[in-house]
Amino acid sequence: MFENQTIGVTCPKCRNQIEQTIAWLKTHDKMTCAGCGSDFIINSEKLFTGIEKAEEAVSKFRKSIRSIGKRR
Ligand SMILES: [Zn+2]
Repeated sequence: MFENQTIGVTCPKCRNQIEQTIAWLKTHDKMTCAGCGSDFIINSEKLFTGIEKAEEAVSKFRKSIRSIGKRR
């Protein structure tokens, strides 16, 4: 469900924020900055740690909804 979410990646050179979908980021390890035109390596490790935490929070939230339903 997070595949189509966009996240902002900050250019290390000019600090320009580039919005990309998670699906795109998972298949690329480099991106070109629209601001200064330089290529840079995406720090995917750092990026996806944040995504995993978000997914974890969502799954916990879903579980709590399910357990509410079971009580009926
Ligand atoms: Zn840039």
